[in-house]
Amino acid sequence: MNKGIEIAKGKTKVLFEASGQPDMLVVKQTDSISAGDGARRNEIGGKGRLAAQTTARVFRLLNLCGLPTHYLNGGEDDDDNEMLVRRCNMIPLEVVVRGVAAGSLVKRNPGLQRGSLLVPRMVEFFLKDDARHDPLITPDAIIGENIANAAEISAMTEIARLTFEILAHAWRKRDVLLVDLKIEFGRLAGGENKGQLVIADVIDNDSWRIWPQGREDRMLDKQIYRNLETVDDAALARVKKAYEDVADMVGSFPVMRPGMIALFAESTDFVPQLNGVAQALGQLGLPVVRHIASASKTPGFVLQLVQQHDATFARLMYVTFSGLDGSLHAVIDNATSNPAVEGGGDPNAVALHCAKVLALEDTVLFGRTLLVQTNARSAVLQSDAQLNAQQIPAASGTLA
Ligand code: 5GP
Repeated sequence: MNKGIEIAKGKTKVLFEASGQPDMLVVKQTDSISAGDGARRNEIGGKGRLAAQTTARVFRLLNLCGLPTHYLNGGEDDDDNEMLVRRCNMIPLEVVVRGVAAGSLVKRNPGLQRGSLLVPRMVEFFLKDDARHDPLITPDAIIGENIANAAEISAMTEIARLTFEILAHAWRKRDVLLVDLKIEFGRLAGGENKGQLVIADVIDNDSWRIWPQGREDRMLDKQIYRNLETVDDAALARVKKAYEDVADMVGSFPVMRPGMIALFAESTDFVPQLNGVAQALGQLGLPVVRHIASASKTPGFVLQLVQQHDATFARLMYVTFSGLDGSLHAVIDNATSNPAVEGGGDPNAVALHCAKVLALEDTVLFGRTLLVQTNARSAVLQSDAQLNAQQIPAASGTLA
C-alpha cells in the first residue's frame, strides 16, 4: 500500500499516513502477541497476516450491515497486512460487550457463575491507561473527564451491542459461542462526516472470547496464549493454529448468501403495492422477481411459475398480492415448500419480514434488520423529544 511516514506504534500494530490522502491512514498489524499489559510478549510468524485478514473480514461484515466503521479496504492476502482506514481521533476507551460471564467480570463478581448467560448483554467501559491497567470507568466519569459526551456514550453502547449481536450471529452459524468482545471508537478527523463516531482500531482474535460448542475448554481466542503455563515453540504453534482456524472461519462472515424474493400480483391493480415492497426490499439489498399471475384466470401459469422458481432458487420466498379473496396466496402457499406471505399493508414491514426469514441463514441480512429496527426505535424517541419540546398548539375557536 502507498504509505507515508509512520505516525504511531502500538503493541500489535503500526500506523502510517496514507500518501496524498490526508483523511486516511494505513494500519499494519504485526506478528507480536502480548498479555498482562506487555508482561508476556512473543512473536508468532504470520500472526500479523492472520490478524489483518480477521480484522478486514469482520469490518467488511459490519460495513455491509450498515454500521459506521473506519475501514475502507485492504488487509487481505496481497496487502502485506495493511488496511486503508479513515483517519480518526481515537476515544481512549475499550468498550466491552458481554453475553456470557467470563474474564474480569467473574473476577470482580465472585458470586457470578462463570459461563452463565447475561441477559440483557452487559456493556462496560474501560479507560485505556496501561499505567493504571485499563481501569473500569463509569459513564458519569467519562463525561466528567471530558472523554465523551452523553450522546456519544449512548451511541457507543448501542453500536457496541449491535456489533456483538451481528458477530454472535455469525459465530453461531459456525457453532461457536461469542462470549465477549472489545471494540474501540474514534471520531472521523476529516471529510464530510468529520466528528462522526465510528468503530475504529482492529477487531481480531485478540478482541473476543469464542468457545466452540459453548465449551470453554475448546476456546480458539487469545485466552489460549494468556493461559499458557510455559511459552515454548510448541505452545506458540498451537496458538498460531487457533488463529489460522479463526481467520479461515471469519473468511465467510462478509458473504451474503444469495436469496430471492418472488413478488406475485393477482392483477395490475396491485402493481403499485408490489412495487412499494420491491423498493423496500431493494433498500435491504434483497433481489426480486415480479409477476402478474392470476389464480382465477391463469391458475396453470401460477403453478408453472412457482415450479420454475422453486427449481431455480435455493433460498426463495414468495410475497403475494391477492386481493380480498386471498386465492392467489392460498394457491402459491399450498404449491411451494418455500415460505409465502401476503404482501398487503406497510411495504417496509413486509420487506423487513422477508429479510428476517432469510436472515436466519444470513448474517448480513440479520445485521441490516437489526439496524432498521434500531433506527425505527430512535426515530420514535426523537419524535417524542421533539413533541415535548413544543408548546401544545392553541385550540381554534372557543367552547360554547
Ligand atoms: P476482560 O475484561 O474479561 O478481561 O475482557 C473482556 C473482553 O475484552 C475479552 O474478549 C478480551 O479479549 C477483550 N480485551 C480486554 N482487554 C483487551 C485489550 O487490551 N486488548 C484486546 N485486544 N482485547 C481486550
